[in-house]
Amino acid sequence: MELETAQLAAQDEFRLFVDRHVAPFADDFDDRGQVPGELITALGTGGYLGANIAREHGGRAMDAITGGLLCEQVGRGSCSLLSLLVVHGMVAHVLARWGSEVQQKQWLPKLASGETLAAFALSEPEVGSDAGSVKTSAVLDQGWFTLNGTKKWTSFGLRANLYLVFARCGSRVAALLVERETPGLSVSPVSTMSGFKAAQMACLEFKDCRVPESQLIGRVGFGLSHIAGSGLDYGRHCVGWGGLGLAQACLDASLAYAARRVQFGKPLKEHPLIQEMLANMFTNIKAARALCWQEARLRHAANPQMILDGAVAKYFTSRIAVQAASDAVQIHGANGFSRDYPIQRYYRDAKVLEVIEGSSQIHQMMIARNIS
Ligand SMILES: Cc1cc2nc3c(=O)[nH]c(=O)nc-3n(C[C@H](O)[C@H](O)[C@H](O)COP(=O)(O)OP(=O)(O)OC[C@H]3O[C@@H](n4cnc5c(N)ncnc54)[C@H](O)[C@@H]3O)c2cc1C
Repeated sequence: MELETAQLAAQDEFRLFVDRHVAPFADDFDDRGQVPGELITALGTGGYLGANIAREHGGRAMDAITGGLLCEQVGRGSCSLLSLLVVHGMVAHVLARWGSEVQQKQWLPKLASGETLAAFALSEPEVGSDAGSVKTSAVLDQGWFTLNGTKKWTSFGLRANLYLVFARCGSRVAALLVERETPGLSVSPVSTMSGFKAAQMACLEFKDCRVPESQLIGRVGFGLSHIAGSGLDYGRHCVGWGGLGLAQACLDASLAYAARRVQFGKPLKEHPLIQEMLANMFTNIKAARALCWQEARLRHAANPQMILDGAVAKYFTSRIAVQAASDAVQIHGANGFSRDYPIQRYYRDAKVLEVIEGSSQIHQMMIARNIS
């Protein structure tokens, strides 16, 4: 797992950015339920919002490994912020892959700079894992779609000004870009979350919301198979690497605490049962890192195997992040639950990784289907 010089430089840059601007403030973001505007501006200026956007559209065109390293560092600092890179990047990815030239020219430069923030609106109050059952409807008449229905759990939906919305068009599903100010769309907060608390999650309600046909991505019928599919594939890549960062943060904090905290006359790190937890965390992180590297190499080579390997990496990494966060709480004892330490946030956020971009069970089914 040798990094090239440019990747090493990028990794240092991302680490510094997160150490300076993200990690020390991430609990405050959670308390306030939002990420500061200046930080989002800095993400745009740094080219992080355009990580996967081509240079011709003003993006930074990071290779899959460099993009993974960015998600790893941001995941180490704040999973809420990571989720912005994930959903915004998913919409950019979909546009680059399936958008028309006109749509790409219209939106990609704005997404790259951060002038436009994008969110991914697939889930609904009654529709989660079974995404094929979306109920939001889109009726096409004389060049306009009329949307009705509700989307829920839209990360950064409160902040975004562009939504990629999946809606049923008869028996098929369509993916449409909907601008925030479109009449008939109302956006309200979902403020009851205990994980990813600063992800400014929204509920979107469409009431006779009219969207021009030119905002359709790809074709009607491509919505799930092609568009949600490729967006979620990119999302799994980001979440896998981000989970790696979160697990690493758990290990770093646990090592520091176990070296400092003395019980029974010696530091916790000298007690064999604590060593067992630290050793398992370390080993799991090494294994997860190898899986993330493998899927990023395949992605870089545009090898179709990347889809299965991306699912494996996300599945494994989110599971070991949950274990690492649980052990980190154990090692920190009462302090693990205290707002004075970031461990409680790691614990709350880690579990989310096992639910988003396809839950662990959905990943198990997907992996099993592809190996038999
Ligand atoms: C913090 C956060 C951010 C999110 N951001 C977004 C976003 O930006 N955009 C968006 O569209 N959605 C978002 N979501 C929603 C997310 O995608 C869904 O939560 C996810 O798809 C699971 O759906 P569900 O919660 O409705 O669970 P359900 O689908 O109801 O599943 C509940 C449980 O049953 C299990 N299950 C379901 N089907 C099966 C089966 N066939 N066999 C075995 N087990 C099964 C699941 O694994 C899960 O454990 C977000 C969710 C969270 C928590």
